[in-house]
Amino acid sequence: MGVRIGVLALQGDVSEHIDAFRDAVRAFGSQRSISVVQVRKPEEITGLDVLAIPGGESTTISRLIEKNRLFDPIVEFEGGIFATCAGMVVMAGIVDDPRVHPLGLMDYKVKRNAFGRQRDSFEADIAIAGLDRPFHAVFIRAPVAEHPGNGIKVLGFLPEGVVAMEQGRFMALSFHPELGRDPRLHIRFLKNCGLL
Ligand code: GLN
Repeated sequence: MGVRIGVLALQGDVSEHIDAFRDAVRAFGSQRSISVVQVRKPEEITGLDVLAIPGGESTTISRLIEKNRLFDPIVEFEGGIFATCAGMVVMAGIVDDPRVHPLGLMDYKVKRNAFGRQRDSFEADIAIAGLDRPFHAVFIRAPVAEHPGNGIKVLGFLPEGVVAMEQGRFMALSFHPELGRDPRLHIRFLKNCGLL
């Protein structure tokens, strides 16, 4: 049976996530096939192994999650969730912007656009716990997390705050691994979910 991946396709960089998951499974050398669907309706979540919540604009993604009646199905989803940037914002327990209704799946507080105008978008090599060499990370109007709860493993941080976390079948990153060519975080996430 292949790995069934859904990408929440309400807004944001959807196709990059699809390609990155395909590349990661191939780079790992797995013979497993992959099927990828775009998720816009509640019934499209059923049967997935993994849901990716992409970057984009978290206020818009949050509004569309509610409009499309996806809030409860995502909260109740039992598979892995891979959330990047705006995705990390909506995964949180608390967000510093009342326009976002967070899913509350991971216990941390998010500060949106935490790097200010000077460092609006930038790239940095960051140390990630468990990876043998730094990860080249692309940040685009990125959030940071603060006050991660007990169950959360912090994987990486910058002076402004936490930028990479995992908790069992969840991974939340404030940067965009789907925009680079480094599959290590996708592979690690799929392994955490028991899929590789
Ligand atoms: N700043 C955006 C937000 O909070 C996230 C940016 C991104 O996903 N690249 O929605």
